[in-house]
Amino acid sequence: MFSKICIAEFVMMCICSLCHLDFDSTLVPSENTLFHWAQRNAEYIVPLYCFDPRHYVGTYNFNLPKTGPFRLHFLLNSIKDLRNTLRSKGSNLVVRRGKPEEVVADLIKQLGSVSSVAFHEEVTSEELNVEKRVKEVCARMKVKVHTCWGSTLYHRDDLPFHHISRLPDVYTQFRKAVETQSRVRPVFPTPETLNPLPPGLEEGDIPTAADLEQPEPVADSRSAFPCSGGESPALERLKHYFWDTNLVASYKETRNGLIGVDYSTKFAPWLAMGCISPRYIYHQIQQYERERTANQSTYWVIFELLWRDYFKFVAVKYGNRLFQIKGLQDKHVPWKLDMKLFDAWKEGRTGVPFVDANMRELAMTGFMSNRGRQNVASFLTKDLGLDWRLGAEWFEYLLIDYDVCSNYGNWLYSAGIGNDPRENRKFNMIKQGLDYDNNGDYVRQWVPELQRIRGGDVHTPWALSSAALSHAEVSLGETYPAPVVVAPEWNRHFNKKPVGSGVGPSARGKKGPSHTPKQHRDRGIDFYFSKSKNL
Ligand SMILES: Cc1cc2nc3c(=O)[nH]c(=O)nc-3n(C[C@H](O)[C@H](O)[C@H](O)COP(=O)(O)OP(=O)(O)OC[C@H]3O[C@@H](n4cnc5c(N)ncnc54)[C@H](O)[C@@H]3O)c2cc1C
Repeated sequence: MFSKICIAEFVMMCICSLCHLDFDSTLVPSENTLFHWAQRNAEYIVPLYCFDPRHYVGTYNFNLPKTGPFRLHFLLNSIKDLRNTLRSKGSNLVVRRGKPEEVVADLIKQLGSVSSVAFHEEVTSEELNVEKRVKEVCARMKVKVHTCWGSTLYHRDDLPFHHISRLPDVYTQFRKAVETQSRVRPVFPTPETLNPLPPGLEEGDIPTAADLEQPEPVADSRSAFPCSGGESPALERLKHYFWDTNLVASYKETRNGLIGVDYSTKFAPWLAMGCISPRYIYHQIQQYERERTANQSTYWVIFELLWRDYFKFVAVKYGNRLFQIKGLQDKHVPWKLDMKLFDAWKEGRTGVPFVDANMRELAMTGFMSNRGRQNVASFLTKDLGLDWRLGAEWFEYLLIDYDVCSNYGNWLYSAGIGNDPRENRKFNMIKQGLDYDNNGDYVRQWVPELQRIRGGDVHTPWALSSAALSHAEVSLGETYPAPVVVAPEWNRHFNKKPVGSGVGPSARGKKGPSHTPKQHRDRGIDFYFSKSKNL
């Protein structure tokens, strides 16, 4: 039998990028990432992905479906792509259906002399429970366990806080500390070849959605994320966004867009699935800045990637408080559980067109812009007063880029019980709609019932005269819902204009593209472009 076999397990949905494994410059082998470690320590490696049935049950509180069709489709493509890459390097991806702890136990028994089981560390409770069970199996079967940290830009061990309990509760403080006191580790080049599977081991079929009793997604030509899963499409996207089009150099001006593929990087689904490493993106930005241009936009991609890191470390600091109704602030809010209102929100039938357009986009494509997410989350929690966990679990179900820490962290932030230092931050749906979809094109794209209302008036159909509505063939409460709520502050934005101008050109002044950008304040920019950043 074989003297040394390592099972490199992709527990949960972590698909290891083979091209850009991160390099640890210390000489401690236990701190190197999965494949490089396994290459050095095992004659045979079994890269393993388990389709865990627990991913296809209901969500924790409200029993919504847990994995939506768009994410599953993306996952299946990622698995196929990973198998192809591994095969091209002399290895393969072993695929099994079942709980990782049971699959690993079976494989250890079947193979006879497994030396170790290795996997990337996760931070949230469901994933930690699986890790715990895998560790128990290994302990029982006298197999060593090796774990690696892998998914963040800054390595957990490089954080400039003595203990995770010292992680600042304000993002800016976190960002400034890591930018000045930590460094992003380099990436390793692609290993040309990998140690093979043990002879005779069945690779296993990649299931279809139907095998997993899940629906197939229906493609929608309006999707802002028409991309496929896997490392190869992720690298292709980066090449397009950085090197072929220079879009990265205008990211800060376009990132609040709503329509099309190119207003933002669209890296999130690949990052969430582990198909691309944030360190690889970071080093590509550095190279781009050296060879092409360094500006506020190139920095801003890193600024946003740091939010992703932040939410992961917040999850480490706060554990299950990330999921609890009182949030990180342990604050009692009398959230409502009105399922009729929730249904209207999730189905895009609230009668508030900017909200409905975003919610329909999510349901029909599995993607929604960051601008949209902030607005619909604020609407659910602040305008409707619904339990924020309803929204978080709906996003968990549908988002292609669902990432447990980013999703729950952002929802807590929107609900005002997370990391936002500003109290009572509430978005004004009408102002936001007019700022970011000035001409109403985005709303009309997803809410065809309002197609005949021209310009920005499409954001407030209830403020139009009955003549204007009838001319646009809209009957509120019949062809399109009357608004479930009208917040008092919205009046400022539709009472200014003469009522009833809805079928003519926009009455709201300048027309512009739907993705008219809003500038952020330039926090962080001075630091990034100052010489002291390498200190
Ligand atoms: C309520 C709510 C829920 C969200 N849920 C998720 C989620 O489950 N998964 C997820 O990846 N993002 C989530 N986000 C953050 C953000 O909306 C998405 O990362 C972004 O829209 C993805 O598009 P992009 O890759 O083109 O982003 P870009 O604008 O191109 O940003 C580049 C990268 O930075 C990171 N990033 C940007 N904004 C954030 C942010 N606010 N928080 C964390 N990381 C960020 C992402 O990795 C993103 O790919 C959520 C935001 C809100 C308000």
